[in-house]
Amino acid sequence: MFNPADFKGKTALVIGAGKSGAACANLLAAKGFDVLLTEKKPAAEVRQKLKSLSREVKVETGGHSRAALACGFAVKSPGLSHANPLITALKKKKVPVFSEIETALAFSKGRLLAVTGTNGKTTTTVLLGELMKAALRPRGRALVCGNVGTPAAEVAAKARPGDAVVMEVSSYQLEDSSCLKPAAACLLNITPDHLDHHGSMAAYVAAKAKVFSFQDRNGACVFNYEDPACRRLASRCPSKVLFFSSRRRGAGLSAWADGGELVFRFAGKTFSVKPPALPGAHNLENAMCAGLMALSAGAKPVHLRKVFAAFKGVEHRIEPAGQVRGVNFVNDSKATNVDSTLVALKALGARRSLWLILGGQGKGNPYAPLIPFIRRSVKAVLTIGEDAPKIERELAGACPVITALTMENACREILQLAEKGDTALFSPACASFDQFRDFEDRGRKFKAFVGTLR
Ligand code: ADP
Repeated sequence: MFNPADFKGKTALVIGAGKSGAACANLLAAKGFDVLLTEKKPAAEVRQKLKSLSREVKVETGGHSRAALACGFAVKSPGLSHANPLITALKKKKVPVFSEIETALAFSKGRLLAVTGTNGKTTTTVLLGELMKAALRPRGRALVCGNVGTPAAEVAAKARPGDAVVMEVSSYQLEDSSCLKPAAACLLNITPDHLDHHGSMAAYVAAKAKVFSFQDRNGACVFNYEDPACRRLASRCPSKVLFFSSRRRGAGLSAWADGGELVFRFAGKTFSVKPPALPGAHNLENAMCAGLMALSAGAKPVHLRKVFAAFKGVEHRIEPAGQVRGVNFVNDSKATNVDSTLVALKALGARRSLWLILGGQGKGNPYAPLIPFIRRSVKAVLTIGEDAPKIERELAGACPVITALTMENACREILQLAEKGDTALFSPACASFDQFRDFEDRGRKFKAFVGTLR
């Protein structure tokens, strides 16, 4: 674990000038360390990012110097591979390398509530943040950070006793951390993802397990009962295990869905709450998970009721994007893999009224798992971007497929063909980098374009 007092007077090396690296460099400088930020890319490519750095931070770009290896400790950006030559060299010299989140948390006086899983992290984190804001007001605050947008290093150090740090943690960050001890944690689900980075499913699962491994009996961890990998891990969890399920009820569970309500059984009491008005069983799971974490961190049923009633979801996740000539447009740009698109099809595909826009930069995964859901719910698929030929090959025969090339063409085409009451679902199952800056840019451009349609 990172203990700042152990490194007093030493120089900190921050590796990587991303958003979290820059925030970490600033934090360490503010705490009195000499900081060197090292970035592999040339200065011209990272100039924008360097603008946010405080003056005290020294910067080297275009590769690392000898000074980097002479630092007292290092902080690694989550994206960097462990095989990175600089990390290897530091480890060989026995220079401790910490994660950005544990560095940030070393300066926090609040309780940590940590959300992880393969899918649903951001939605659950944002909802939990709202629940904790309601529960802690007016004495304490809930500070939301992590992958969700604001780096932990920018936020955690501001936490005072009585505050909660609500953090979305990715497997990358967990893998790099030696000892996180959240008051409440969760594991929403585990399906294969990022295996190129972690090397194997076992390594990915081991990284995820770090969210609870260092908890003790005073803590709690929430698990999805319907996910076999989660259930296996729960048996190794040293803190209080709380299970939720969207498919069964009662025995052994702390939350389940019943007759349009969510039922919570917590601290000897059972009560029902209306879930947030969001489509899909996955959103019930996210709400049960956030609800149980909040309850174990002191929230009351009234906070769940108020916050669930007001929660409108998170941008780019099955987000209503407007109606044009009776056709509903839905922005699900966050669906950057086939699993996420499947979730959207399950959530929206009750009848056969969907026009599905797929494509972008493929991740090498097969599209065939979509076929049963496409057969049930989709009138036609419209393809865009780099992976369109592969999609067309793999979905051939499942439904009509239209080569649209761009998102704009796809939308125009749908308006020509769709009937009133149909839904145009932009859930690409691919990364966005071939045609957009990132999935947010892709989602905003979609919404803006739909806004121009008449
Ligand atoms: P993350 O931050 O883990 O990527 P998000 O909340 O941003 O999660 O949701 C990303 C996508 O994952 C959503 O568009 C949806 O398709 C899918 N998703 C959300 N919640 C769940 C869940 N509980 N189980 C499975 N898939 C989910």
